[in-house]
Amino acid sequence: MSKDYYKILGVDKNASQSDIKKAFSKLAHKYHPDKKGGNEEKFKEINEAYQVLKDKEKRQKYDQFGSDFSSGFSGAGANPFGGGFSWQDFSRQGFGGFNNSEAGFDFGDIGDIFGDFFGGSRRSSRQSHKGRDIQTEVDISFEESVFGTEKHLRLNKKIVCDKCNGKCGSNSQTCKKCNGSGRVTVQQQTFFGNFASVTICPDCDGTGNIFKDTCNKCGGAGSINGTEEIKVKIPAGISDGQTIRLSGKGESGSKGSVSGDLYIIIRVSKSSKFERKGDDIFSTIKLKYSQLIKGDKILVDTIDGEVKLKIPELTSSGKVFILKGKGVSKLNSRGRGDHHVKVILDVPKYLNKDQKKLIEELEKRGL
Ligand SMILES: [Zn+2]
Ligand SMILES: [Zn+2]
Repeated sequence: MSKDYYKILGVDKNASQSDIKKAFSKLAHKYHPDKKGGNEEKFKEINEAYQVLKDKEKRQKYDQFGSDFSSGFSGAGANPFGGGFSWQDFSRQGFGGFNNSEAGFDFGDIGDIFGDFFGGSRRSSRQSHKGRDIQTEVDISFEESVFGTEKHLRLNKKIVCDKCNGKCGSNSQTCKKCNGSGRVTVQQQTFFGNFASVTICPDCDGTGNIFKDTCNKCGGAGSINGTEEIKVKIPAGISDGQTIRLSGKGESGSKGSVSGDLYIIIRVSKSSKFERKGDDIFSTIKLKYSQLIKGDKILVDTIDGEVKLKIPELTSSGKVFILKGKGVSKLNSRGRGDHHVKVILDVPKYLNKDQKKLIEELEKRGL
């Protein structure tokens, strides 16, 4: 049998996706089989309708063939698919849609819907006007990541209207429609009867107040497009890819509501001298054969500058020396990591006759 999914959800044929979702959540909540007064049959039907209408492509196909369905039942000739065709069959064959009648409900969706539903009923109007969170990236050098730095950012975003100071207007009066509560109860007629639901007052947009004189700069929104300079302290020891969150530095909310947050992703450029793993720094130094065999005193580049290092005699190529506390500041605790210096043999690219002779001498002496 063909079903009118719009009627089942109690929505208009031109209903928006959000209206469909709202209608579904209301009905699914009411008829959920686990609830008192629930109705599994109705719940299944509601879910079936929603599975089709929430999906743009399925909804389009349904709309396209929907009229044929209704006329089709009066005579086999009017139904392009012959008798007995139903949307369930069509969706199964056509585009791998729901399998509602056999497989039960799409619980994933129900969870999502109930989440919205309960969240929605608790959500205050201040939160619904909350400014958007924004995200930006900041490039810093290796040295800046090690020692910390301060950066000035210029962000294009919604800022508080400077004319009304985010108040949206002047001569505020209590909204007559909601008596200042910001919420109104609406009756909705659906296939299954009338439902009362509480929504944000459309007149005052949930603020409870109406301005006699609306601000002409922001049009009563309380926020405008603008730029803001933001100073951000980047702590010593930060790593590539880490994020700094600045609470309330996102876009301004409308209607005097709270601002969103700013998320700053840190990008650290590579160093030609050093590599970093956690709080430790690694570098490699090439030494001559004689330095490794006889030992030497050398200077090692660290993030603090040059540091003396004694190479003992008979040092193997590949040996690692640790310079304690010469690494990166620990981000969330005291102290610093270490610097690991690896010494390797600097094999010459070329030997002259003299050098070759000496090497042969060394070889004869067992070296
Ligand atoms: Zn109101
Ligand atoms: Zn304004």
